[in-house]
Amino acid sequence: MSTNGSAATDDEGVGTSRSTIMGPLNFTKDSTATDPPTSLVNERTVPCMFCSNIYDFHSADNGADQCLAHLYLVHRLVVADVKEIACLPSYCYYWREKFSSAPVEKYCSAMLLNQLPDGTSSPNEKYYLLSDIEPLDYELRQRLRREKLELVLARHQFERTDRNFQRGCLYCRDHRSATRPEYVSHLYSKHFLLLGKPEHLVFVDELIEIVQDKLNRLLCLFCEKLFKDRPTLKEHMRKKGHKRINPDNHYYDRFFLVNYRLKQKPEYVPIAKRKEESRVFASDSDSNSDWSDWNGDEQTTTCLFCAHTESSIVTLKQHMVAEHTFDFDQAVTGLSFYQRVKVVNFIRRQMHVRKCIACGEQCGELQSLVEHLDREGHYRLDGAGCAWDQPEYFFPTYEDDQFLCHLEEVDNERDETGQEEGSVVISESVNACINLDAESLSLENFKL
Ligand SMILES: [Zn+2]
Ligand SMILES: [Zn+2]
Ligand SMILES: [Zn+2]
Ligand SMILES: [Zn+2]
Ligand SMILES: [Zn+2]
Repeated sequence: MSTNGSAATDDEGVGTSRSTIMGPLNFTKDSTATDPPTSLVNERTVPCMFCSNIYDFHSADNGADQCLAHLYLVHRLVVADVKEIACLPSYCYYWREKFSSAPVEKYCSAMLLNQLPDGTSSPNEKYYLLSDIEPLDYELRQRLRREKLELVLARHQFERTDRNFQRGCLYCRDHRSATRPEYVSHLYSKHFLLLGKPEHLVFVDELIEIVQDKLNRLLCLFCEKLFKDRPTLKEHMRKKGHKRINPDNHYYDRFFLVNYRLKQKPEYVPIAKRKEESRVFASDSDSNSDWSDWNGDEQTTTCLFCAHTESSIVTLKQHMVAEHTFDFDQAVTGLSFYQRVKVVNFIRRQMHVRKCIACGEQCGELQSLVEHLDREGHYRLDGAGCAWDQPEYFFPTYEDDQFLCHLEEVDNERDETGQEEGSVVISESVNACINLDAESLSLENFKL
């Protein structure tokens, strides 16, 4: 195994060293050494966790998405709740270091699927999930949130008062503003270009660069359409009221302070508590379950929305219709076996983190989530299907979730085309998954 000699990657014990910065420092943006940095690490050349590929997380063609797609397609790795990671580049540097000296199974849940990443069917293909179920990952995510917030606040404070800001106005070249807030205010008061309230913005230099680049490339800031020349673009933006940045483009999210607020998140349930909960869900009524009835027919299945259990999946589905107005068979009509797996794991996950399965609203307690689901009639999947149809939901939320063993029956009841081995694979993987102490799985399918 390679020993990484890089000086900036010491990370023994993630939780203990708050100020550790992972990966090479970023010198690219800062004009003087005393300015607060604009990022925790160099985000322009972020390495893949496993190979020599490099990604620019600030590129217009979205390097972060490319990196995640590459991890899935080439290395079979899915990062859970990736949008919750405060600094994905740091996260990549950290895990790259870990994976350089230990097999991926040491930190990831593994499971087998009968398909290749592109969807082609192929038996027993192995995939990995990196999630906060792994204690190091949990602590890393916590630390990155704190460090990112500290950096953003320091940078924001600096940008509000720094008088060394030297930049000509985007429109009237001779105008100079003493500070960034003055500059942003000038754009609005003199040129009616609205970037945001100065006190809400951070990383203003990069924001202005992006705006300038868009205008130079003759793109409207708001609708992002391309125009043939500068006067036509100016006319369009003025006439249509498009002199502001596109609020639907998440590329701009990082320039708004509000997006860094630490939210009260029940997402991050301590590991011990989560295990406990998973045990409760797995064997609610029979406390002395042992391995002898593991393969028996008397396994109970837990409702997707409450702690109710039934030994018959048919009765359980009737319970869900009667109690929760949720018709499972109807909800998954037309979905493939793997899509049904994702639906079940998605609902389990959302209920666990107290988020609505239809609109994604975050609730504090289980009780308020149940009230929301009842009140809004949200015992249903969202129409677009993009929330649940993510690779991370291939992986079970709970250990030995019996619901996953009954997904084939939907097929069998309606037509006879279901593949029998599908349910076998999924129950195997349930055993293999999450239990990090399980025998270490072979690396044969994992190509570096
Ligand atoms: Zn790679
Ligand atoms: Zn001006
Ligand atoms: Zn426009
Ligand atoms: Zn129920
Ligand atoms: Zn809802």
